Amino acid sequence: MRRSGPQSTPTILLPDSGTARAEARHGPTAQPLLIRARIVAPVARPSIEDGALLICGSKICAVGRWRQIASSVPAGAHKIDLGEVVLLPGLINAHAHLDYTDMAGQLVPTRSFTDWIKLITEAKSGWGPDDFASSWRNGAEMLVRSGTTTVADIETAPDMLPDVWRDTPLRVISFIELTGVRSRIAPETAVKETQNRIAALSSGPGRVGVAPHAPYSTIPALLRMVAGAARARGWLLTTHVAESMEEYEMFRHARGPMFEWLKRNNRDMSDCGDITPVAHLDRNGLLGPNLLAVHANYLDPDDIALLARKGVSVVHCPRSHRYFNHAPFQYENLLRAGVRVCLGTDSLATVIVKRGRKATLNFFEEMREFASEFPDRPPREILRLCTETPAAALRLSGQIGCLAPGATADLIAIPHEGSIARADEAVIAHEGSVAVSMIDGRFVWPLPT
Ligand SMILES: [Zn+2]
Repeated sequence: MRRSGPQSTPTILLPDSGTARAEARHGPTAQPLLIRARIVAPVARPSIEDGALLICGSKICAVGRWRQIASSVPAGAHKIDLGEVVLLPGLINAHAHLDYTDMAGQLVPTRSFTDWIKLITEAKSGWGPDDFASSWRNGAEMLVRSGTTTVADIETAPDMLPDVWRDTPLRVISFIELTGVRSRIAPETAVKETQNRIAALSSGPGRVGVAPHAPYSTIPALLRMVAGAARARGWLLTTHVAESMEEYEMFRHARGPMFEWLKRNNRDMSDCGDITPVAHLDRNGLLGPNLLAVHANYLDPDDIALLARKGVSVVHCPRSHRYFNHAPFQYENLLRAGVRVCLGTDSLATVIVKRGRKATLNFFEEMREFASEFPDRPPREILRLCTETPAAALRLSGQIGCLAPGATADLIAIPHEGSIARADEAVIAHEGSVAVSMIDGRFVWPLPT
């Protein structure tokens, strides 16, 4: 058995040892678990060379240098040395559609966003509940192996909850999607049904929020009602907003392909003209610190100021952004205004599938795409967009997205033999599965044998 770490340290066991397998099979035990890694990167604080984490049940109870922590661990603690890795908080994916995973490569990017909406609507109409559920499970598995430990997921087929939650170790925050334009369900009915669904799911392992789909696919009355119910009940909200120029044109100028299409489909278009999509959400009470506004690609300066003033978080999905070839994302303007920006994967339906390669949901690919969009931004900042900022957006600051005493033990390890100075860069450059993933104090990857 190989031993590593400073010579003065106690005997430590490798992750493929019997102890690690026992931990993996049985989850958190009463015994504390001491994990050593050559580099521990809490992200919110400077990285630690020859670092260690002490896990007690599902929580982190100490973080620091190996020598310090190892000398004070309780007798009987299990010890695991992960060796040449960077250990960091599990990634938080602030926007996904797990149930569209199996649509990878099936929809070709179209010149018109409205035409693409028609394509996905048609593709969805050919799917049954089993297709959505199996697609959801496939997406969840891809996220687990590639280091996502929490996902904010949009649920178009919420009947499969809570069953699919039980099939994944992922921490899932499921946002129940509402549209109201196509379904023609009265807003009161839609909100009441959602309320009942949330109450029924409250004892399950996942958490629930609400996702009015987008300003164009909803009506003002629904937005107002959802906003009111969210304030009264403490719901988290998310919505797609200002994703395409066609949506911007629809609200700002009451014209364009999206406007014409929805008008033909009998949407009441009297809410369009002389307003931006973001201002439209504000007019209907939706902007607030409980909202994750997804995409936000077409923004006026006033929109950015409004998002900042209302404490809204914005979710950018780099590969989806590239798929649609949108105007440059206004990251720097949002940052300067003080808007919290997070990253998300969106779905595999909006990822360009390279010839001969299988598209997978992988947050490292999103980070790399972001780094190519904004080459001047430091890797540490990019890691924050996938850890501490989404934790704050999801009202889970201090609980996930960090390695700190009291936080939940959601962590991942990436192989890295280079210097501590290059560790963040190495994390972003990582391809394939992570070396180790732990959620809630349980090893979830590699799969227990
Ligand atoms: Zn989306």
